[in-house]
Amino acid sequence: MSFKSLGLSTSLLHAINKKGYTEPSPIQEKAIPLVLERKDVLASAQTGTGKTAGFVLPILEILSQSKQPKRRPIRALVLTPTRELAAQVFENVKEYSEFLPLSSTVIFGGVNQNPQIRELRNGVDFLVATPGRLLDLHSQGKLFLNQVEVLVLDEADRMLDMGFLRDIKKILPLLPPRRQNLLFSATFSKEIKMLAGSFMFDPELVEATPENTAVEKIVQKIYRVDKGKKAPLVIKLIKEGDWRQVLIFMRTKYGANRLSQRLEKKGITSAAIHSNKSQGARTKALAGFKEGKIRVLVATDIAARGLDIPLLPHVVNFELPNVPEDYVHRIGRTGRAGASGEAISLVGAEETDLVRGIEKLIQEKLPTEVVEGFEPEEQAQPPREVPGRNKPGKKKPHNASRAKANNRQQGNPEAKGRPGNKNKSGGGKRRFRPGRHR
Ligand code: AMP
Repeated sequence: MSFKSLGLSTSLLHAINKKGYTEPSPIQEKAIPLVLERKDVLASAQTGTGKTAGFVLPILEILSQSKQPKRRPIRALVLTPTRELAAQVFENVKEYSEFLPLSSTVIFGGVNQNPQIRELRNGVDFLVATPGRLLDLHSQGKLFLNQVEVLVLDEADRMLDMGFLRDIKKILPLLPPRRQNLLFSATFSKEIKMLAGSFMFDPELVEATPENTAVEKIVQKIYRVDKGKKAPLVIKLIKEGDWRQVLIFMRTKYGANRLSQRLEKKGITSAAIHSNKSQGARTKALAGFKEGKIRVLVATDIAARGLDIPLLPHVVNFELPNVPEDYVHRIGRTGRAGASGEAISLVGAEETDLVRGIEKLIQEKLPTEVVEGFEPEEQAQPPREVPGRNKPGKKKPHNASRAKANNRQQGNPEAKGRPGNKNKSGGGKRRFRPGRHR
């Protein structure tokens, strides 16, 4: 299948060619024709599948085909959960619309609003925005949404996680009732379905095919290690593996700062990126990372959301996220656009429950290894004995089944896999298939 056969005009094909894309990704193949038919689309696709072009290209096609109103009202609006994602989507819009007579801009909080207001005053066809700044500028009368023809909620699951539902509900009534709605989300939770049901009209469902997607090439691995030895282990892995570009996820801003400083002390260039850092510092860190000046980016989940780092070879979960879905988002940072990548999780005994949650979500058992010299001394707790989770009156599992469970947690190759688990060997390289957890 070619981009041409999807019904895109020469100007867009020219821009696509300039980007070096030879054929549409599965999500693009499915979403582009539907968007061009002016259908509402509910798409399950995570970062790394080419989803951005999946909505930006057809919207640009629609905007360029229709007659341009004189004063250039906002006709396409993309809402994103974070500033970084907004900036990246806008970069894509700029690149794809290079040969079209359309104007676009991006607005987000944390920076001076005046340059954004100036851009808006000049007239903008395509606006990418985070919800807070959009509402803010709307309330100041700096922008109008009453001529929006297409609305996109990008990474909608993340928007809900980050508490943007109220903002979304305030924005929807500002738009014309007759419009096209597109919703992209990595997961389809009950909340997402409810949100979609509240504003979409008979949406077409689209899913990035698990097979053939870029993210399929991610190799996932767990290293069991005691909490206190994680930093020396990650330093060893980076140095001995000569990893040049590593994204490390931490749970806390404090932890991210500390690890980044520790890496620097060991001669590994690094920057921490989290919500306490100014927008300028975050942009600078990301640019340095992309250019190869910074070897390791240590990030919290929210800060890292939506980062577009092509060909990222290594993602490390220094700590597992509390929410299993975040694991899926995190490892989506690697193996992008046809490149393979490795996602490594350093897992302490206290995180055993979190591993279970992730494995349940992705319906796969994660291969587990122990690095020589970093053998864990702390014991993984059997499920019912995790502090705070004991249910009084419930029986502890039978010893034999507890031993089996522990064997499985430790990735013991002698132990049998879970019933119904496709990957029963308990070790070796595995591929992540994003669609399978649904
Ligand atoms: P996204 O999922 O939109 O964040 O895109 C992930 C990465 O894939 C970005 O670096 C895009 O530039 C790239 N990409 C998007 N579409 C294609 C395509 N058809 N062929 C190759 N790379 C692509």
